[in-house]
Formats: sequence, structure tokens, C-alpha cells
Amino acid sequence: MEVLKKFEEAAKDPRAILDRYLREGKDVVLVAPVYTPEEIVHSFGMVPMGAWGADTQLNGSKKYFPAFICSIVQSIVELGMNGAYDGVKALIVPSLCDSLKVLGENWKYAVPDIPFIPMTYPQNRKPEYALEYTKAGYRRVISDLEKISGKGFDENALKVSIEVYNEHNRLMRETAEELRRHPEITAEERSAIYKSATFLRKEEHSALLKELLQELQAATPGREKIRIVTTGILADSPSLLQILDENGLQIVADDIAAESRQYKTDCVLEGDALTSLARKFSARDNCSVLYDVKKSRVEAIVDLAKKTDAGGVLMILTKFCDPEEFDYPLIRKACEKAGLPIVEIEVDRQMENYEQASTIIESFREMMEL
Ligand code: SF4
Repeated sequence: MEVLKKFEEAAKDPRAILDRYLREGKDVVLVAPVYTPEEIVHSFGMVPMGAWGADTQLNGSKKYFPAFICSIVQSIVELGMNGAYDGVKALIVPSLCDSLKVLGENWKYAVPDIPFIPMTYPQNRKPEYALEYTKAGYRRVISDLEKISGKGFDENALKVSIEVYNEHNRLMRETAEELRRHPEITAEERSAIYKSATFLRKEEHSALLKELLQELQAATPGREKIRIVTTGILADSPSLLQILDENGLQIVADDIAAESRQYKTDCVLEGDALTSLARKFSARDNCSVLYDVKKSRVEAIVDLAKKTDAGGVLMILTKFCDPEEFDYPLIRKACEKAGLPIVEIEVDRQMENYEQASTIIESFREMMEL
């Protein structure tokens, strides 16, 4: 399908996308993981562009971080120091894990030319008083964006942006459902759809998704493969995805922070736009970086695997990611109790040797074939 190439091109070359937006005279703001209020950036007429790091050699950034910190935050700083983000107006970092909390502080010294905007969220996000706390965080972001853009905040523009993001969420969910019926779409192609969503303006990505949905609905599904569910923070390593494809595995659903977790929750517009956006954050659930004493995410993964008729769960664990490391033993236990094969592969942004991952995936496939 021709449209898949467009997702792949966008996923492979975010710098080309950034340069195009800059040539078009647009202001671009980087948004770090996991949940940044992109709608606010969009409402200023700026382009929110995902900054999830990249597979790159870490050099200069090492002097700002201890060795035992996740490579996502390290590679964001490395890319900033190397000029990969030159031309952007700011970087917004949410305070959702300890590594992200130090990212912003280090960024100020490592990349002084690109302003850092903190987005401070409450840990306990459900009570009514937490909404005020979240809104205070949004107001800080707004005030910094006003200074950078020279424009004032516009409540009606935010309402329009919220609708753009809700529409994109809906299309991403529809695409995930449709992809489930198409084993011929490779893990690499699937990943490019999600990865490109973080770089492209949502209007552009939605237009591509509509094209893809039409083509998928008209296509005859390919031969069945072994169905799996993936879970973790990131799953975009081309080498790992190739191993899944070589082993005839189809990702039928995911609980990946950079993939489906982004698109599960819509913003219900009720009352003022900022309160509605704060309610969207408080309504988010089932994610390792969101406080939850009941750890509902664990059973949600088992349910997702059952609902999608998956033969097993692949945990893609980002090295030194505390929130995911805390959840993994519980996920393993719940899968084992449900009779679901589960394996874990540890990844980072500097991984070169995938031999061990290949062996683990081969035995995972054999466990599911039994
Ligand atoms: S991978 Fe884990 S530790 Fe790193 S930024 Fe994401 S949630 Fe935080």
C-alpha cells in the first residue's frame, strides 16, 4: 500500500518534517513523553512535535546524567546538544517520572538556546482538587507559550484544538482495530503509523489515517500469524520489529506508552476548555507513570490479550525505567495465572546486539505454538 510508505518516510526522518514546518513559517515546540498537553500548543497555532529520543550514540549527555537512567531522556539531551532540534521554540517536559523530572533541569544547562517549559502534574490526579493543580500547570505552560509566541491564549482556539485531537484519537483507535484484521501488515509498518503520529501535525496524520483505513477496508486480509500483545514504553526499534516479523508474529494490540496509551482517552468538552483538558488527564488510567494503588493496568493487559485472541504477551522493558520495572513482576504473575505465555526483552536507545532478543522471541513463538 502506497500510503504505508508515507508513514514510514515520516517516521524515519523527523528532521525533514521539522525543516518543512520551519520553511512553512511555523513555530515548532517539542513535547516530551508521556502526556504533554499538546492541545494547548496547537491552540497557539504552533506545531507540537514528539521528542521520545532516538537510537543514537550517547556522548555529551553522559556528563549530565548517571549511567543508570533511561536512555530516552539521555538521548533527548544528546539530540539537543547535537543540533538535531535546532529551530524549535521550546521543549515541554511533564513531571511524570523521576527521569523526566531531571531531564528539564539538565536540559537548561546542556541546551541553553532552547527554552525548557515544565508541566507539573499531580500524582493523585482523580480528586476535584487535583484538577486545580493540573490547571495551574497548564497556566504555567500557557504563560511561557505566550512569551515565546507573542500571542495571547484563546479559549475558543483551544476548543477547536481539542476537537482536532479527539478526531485523531478516534482514527487511531479505528486503525488499531482494522490492523488487527490484517496480518500482512508487518510490525515495522505498524510501528511507523504510531511513530509518525508523534512528528506530524494531527490534521496531516488524520488525513493519512483516513487514506489507510479506506485501503485496509478494501484489501483482502493476508494469512494468519501468531497473535501477540506488546506492553512497555517504546517499541520502535527496527531490529526488534524485524525479529518479530521474521518469526511470523502479529501485534494485534498494544499497551505501549508511545502507541495506544496515547489515544485511549478523549477530552470531553464540558464547561471551560482548560477544565475539560484537566479532566482528560484525570480520566487517564492503566499506565505505569500514572499513580494507581490498585494497579488496574495489570488485569487490563490480560483482558486485552483475551479480547484480541492473542497467544502471548511481549514485555518490551526500557532499561532503567523504574515505573515499568515495578509493574513487570505483577504483569508476569497475572499472565501466568491466566495461562498466557509472557516474555520480557530489555531494550535501550543504544542497543546494537539483538542476538539474545532473537533467541527469546524464538522460544516465545515456540511456547505459543505448543
Ligand atoms: S522510559 Fe520510563 S524512566 Fe524513562 S522517561 Fe519514560 S517513564 Fe520515565
